[in-house]
Amino acid sequence: MANVDDCIFCKIVRGEVPSARVFEDERSVAFMDINPANPGHVLVVPKDHAADLYAMPDELLAATVAVVKRVATAVRDAVAPDGVNIIQANGPGAAQSVAHFHWHVLPRINGDDLKLNWSLKRGDKDAIAAAADRIRRHL
Ligand code: 5GP
Ligand code: ZN
Repeated sequence: MANVDDCIFCKIVRGEVPSARVFEDERSVAFMDINPANPGHVLVVPKDHAADLYAMPDELLAATVAVVKRVATAVRDAVAPDGVNIIQANGPGAAQSVAHFHWHVLPRINGDDLKLNWSLKRGDKDAIAAAADRIRRHL
């Protein structure tokens, strides 16, 4: 498995850094964003390191999309948001802050007025864990 020693998401995939993991299969891992833009904000990443979309093999990309669909459905059922955006950033100009490819499964609330480049605000650990529990029950 392609892993990068100092990549935070590779460390999460390897279990060296804790995360509120909600789902994993052979090729992908889904875990809660530590700075949720809204409650129930989940990240889906490939287990193999790829910096961005351009570095993702097509088959691996398709595998992560299937997990995104599954997780988004669970987020919809567990969190009951008004909607869910699927977002993915490439490069600093797109506000990519972690250079390991990832999908944002981002629940939306009417009037949340989220900008595409939302600012990172550390979430409450217990609230994140509670959202993870609710989502896991739907996976
Ligand atoms: P980007 O800005 O690259 O589109 O998204 C990276 C996301 O990773 C951010 O939303 C940020 O909150 C999240 N993140 C960064 N470091 C960690 C971490 O150590 N654990 C978790 N769970 N999320 C992280
Ligand atoms: Zn990585």
